[in-house]
Formats: sequence, structure tokens, C-alpha cells
Amino acid sequence: MKIALVGIGKIAQDQHVPAIAASPDWELAATVSRAGSVEGVPAYTSLADMLAAHPDIGTVSLCLPPVPRFFYARELIAAGRHLMLEKPPGATLSECHALEAMAAEAGVSLFATWHSREAAGVAPARDWLSGREIRRVTVTWKEDVRRWHPGQEWVFEPGGLGVFDPGINALSILTEILAQPVHLSGAELLFPQNRQTPIAADLRFAHPGGAEVSAAFDWRQTGPQTWEIAVETASGALRLTEGGGKLSVNGEDIAPEGEGEYPRLYARMAELVRAGASNVDLAPLRHVADAFLLGRRETVAPFDF
Ligand code: NAP
Repeated sequence: MKIALVGIGKIAQDQHVPAIAASPDWELAATVSRAGSVEGVPAYTSLADMLAAHPDIGTVSLCLPPVPRFFYARELIAAGRHLMLEKPPGATLSECHALEAMAAEAGVSLFATWHSREAAGVAPARDWLSGREIRRVTVTWKEDVRRWHPGQEWVFEPGGLGVFDPGINALSILTEILAQPVHLSGAELLFPQNRQTPIAADLRFAHPGGAEVSAAFDWRQTGPQTWEIAVETASGALRLTEGGGKLSVNGEDIAPEGEGEYPRLYARMAELVRAGASNVDLAPLRHVADAFLLGRRETVAPFDF
């Protein structure tokens, strides 16, 4: 099936282009980007021009930052194209609900992807936790924003999510591995004096079974980077490290098999299109929205790249 990529930036080049190239399901048939392109693939700077030139491209994958995403998504659904969204699926929950309704009405597949859910340790962690009594969950997601988002000013603009841009990946795993849904009960958000989004956040969640569930996100971490979820249960403990890529149970490493997060996402998209189905789970974004609603705000030192 033919697919187009919109927004040829960091994640498109790092992950989407190689995943499509290796996929038995997809052929990259066009790109839309003001500055970026992919060698050997027809490149457009205007979405409307690409759509007019390629009625045979049935599916489009959006790799834009969250704020400009809705405009493109709406045009694509109106043009009858199936749509795959990078995380987060939109800048607001209402935008995402609107897209879901439009896609259903137009009869196209909409896939709100969460790449971290495809990390190799996540499905085995969910299976191991199933039926166990959860006592404590500790999420630690600490990385250096200068290393992972060099010069990406949009992450500190309204709608750019700040530290929730990586933090929502942790929340996408949390909401996948816990059988019982949690809800946010408190948060502290640290905003640099010169920025619109937080650079660090501490979150607490209420769990129906009374487990202590907390998350610490920080973008000021230099040196070792930490993307970890530790779960204590009444019958053993589990640790997901490296963003869900590694799993240990009771201190023993389990070697989960996996072909990579993005190849799995593109395989799932192919299944959805063939089945005429959609997959839109907004739980991770809901927790972020709740943190912005309920969080206590502190101002911290200015941040510059
Ligand atoms: P990026 O490189 O800053 O942006 C992607 C591309 O989107 C840009 O190259 C730009 O292309 C286009 N773009 C940016 N602002 C735009 C605007 N206002 N209007 C229209 N187009 C615009 O960002 P990224 O790191 O690839 O992230 C994109 C999405 O992928 C985000 O939602 C992010 O959370 C997600 N993601 C990123 C990573 C990562 O490691 N970076 C990992 C997983 C997921 P043109 O200027 O050429 O149009």
C-alpha cells in the first residue's frame, strides 16, 4: 500500500523512513515538508498539492509536532485518506475526539500511535502483572532535553507539552500494563521562568486497589539517562528499563523478542487499514491534561538550549 509522510524532521528521519523501507506492507510514495525530503521520493511543500497529485496514496502518517497536527489531520480525513498520528495524537483532548468522530463519519482508519507501548518488554510486563496485586508503581523518566530535542523550540511553546513530551511515553506504558485504570490525584509542575511548558513534573495517581503510584519526569538530567518503571506486587517485583525495551522480574532479566517499536506500529497500521478499523486510546493524554488542570506550579531557573 502507498503511504505519504508529513513533517520530515527528527522522528521521521530516525524511525519512520527506515520502518517503512523495511516493511512488506508499505511503499513511501510522497513526502510533505517545508524543508525536509527523502531521497528518491516525490517531495511536496503543500499538502493540497500532494493530495491532488497522488489520489493513489490511501494512507498518510503525520510526524509533525502536536500543535499544527489537527489542521493536517482534518484535511486528510476530508480527502478520504487513512491516518496515522505520532504521539501525542493532538494538542488537546477535544481535537482528538473531533478527529475520531470525523474518521468514523468518513469511514477511514485512524491510528493514534504510542510507540513506547511497542517496546519489547511492555507486552510481557502486562501479561506478568495480570491478576497480581499491585502495591507500588514508581515511574522515573529523566533525560537531557538538549541531547534529545536539540533546538526544538516548539517543546516549550504552548501545546508543546514540555517534559510531558517524553513523559507521555511513560504514561502510555503505565496505562498499558496496569489492568485497573489509575487517575491523577496530585502533581507539581516546574516551569522555567522564560518558558510556557514544564521542564520537570512529579505526579501521583489514585489506584482502585490502593497501590502507591507515582511518576517523576525531569528534562534536566545530564549523565546517565533513566526511563524506568518499577512495580512491586504482593507476589514479586518487575522492572522495565530503557523505555520498556528491557524487562526484569524478581531481579532476573527476561529477554523479550521484538522487531522494534516503529516496524510494529506500521504493521499494526496495515492491519487496521485492511480491517477497516481504528485505534484511538487517549488515556495517556488525559493524564497529561489532568496534570495541567490539577498541578501546583513552581517557577524555576530560565532554560535555553
Ligand atoms: P521536529 O523534528 O521538530 O519536527 C518535525 C517536522 O515537522 C519538522 O521538521 C517540520 O518540517 C515540521 N513542522 C514543525 N513545526 C511545524 C509547524 N508549525 N507547521 C508545520 N510543520 C511543522 O520534531 P520531531 O522530534 O520529529 O517530533 C515530531 C513528533 O514526533 C512529536 O509529536 C514528537 O513527540 C514525536 N516523537 C519524537 C521523537 C524524538 O525522538 N524526536 C520520538 C518519538 C516521537 P518542515 O519545517 O520541513 O515542514
